[in-house]
Amino acid sequence: NGESVSGASPRHRLTVVSGPSGVGKSSVVAELRRLCPDIYFSVSVTTRPPRAGEVNGEHYHFVDRETFEAMERGGELLEHAEFAGNRYGTPRAPVERVLDAGRPAVLEIELQGARQVRRAMPEAQLVMLLPPSWDELVGRLTGRGTEHDDAVRARLREAERELAAADEFDERIVNADVRAAARQLLSLVTGRTTACDET
Ligand code: 5GP
Repeated sequence: NGESVSGASPRHRLTVVSGPSGVGKSSVVAELRRLCPDIYFSVSVTTRPPRAGEVNGEHYHFVDRETFEAMERGGELLEHAEFAGNRYGTPRAPVERVLDAGRPAVLEIELQGARQVRRAMPEAQLVMLLPPSWDELVGRLTGRGTEHDDAVRARLREAERELAAADEFDERIVNADVRAAARQLLSLVTGRTTACDET
């Protein structure tokens, strides 16, 4: 019946959240974290320079290219990708530890990485966050004001590719409202319809 004889929790299923830059992934994931502190959120390594307010070890592990490539060669990354000129990857060990302990884990990554996870862990659940409309997405990306025009253009190109792959995902959530989207995601990740500290 799927329960382990030792009484330990069975391995939990991994959830991957993808979606174009500007769709509000970080806000939805932050709200999910608030709803359910039991969920483990993977901290990626990246060669991208930190944005204002980003904390090393919390939002990302900020590393140089050499360090990134050494981790890649050493098989330490569950998946990795190049996005808008920077490298991003998911450290494998913490995710495996959490899932083996029976706890839910969430990766917030882009499309190429989601596809690698699909191959490496076929049981993983892939969720794509969608904008209410393309115009809305363009507005959010250009209005962010944290990046130069070239970077915004690169992100828009990637966004188009990501949206075209929506059919490859197990679930799709339209982010018209952050709290509503986070509730839907909570239910997909944990099977719960209420926050984890409510009964
Ligand atoms: P940003 O630079 O805006 O923080 O992230 C750019 C894109 O990279 C986002 O779509 C984000 O989800 C994705 N990303 C962040 N960490 C990882 C990772 O470890 N692997 C992959 N494949 N994508 C990532």
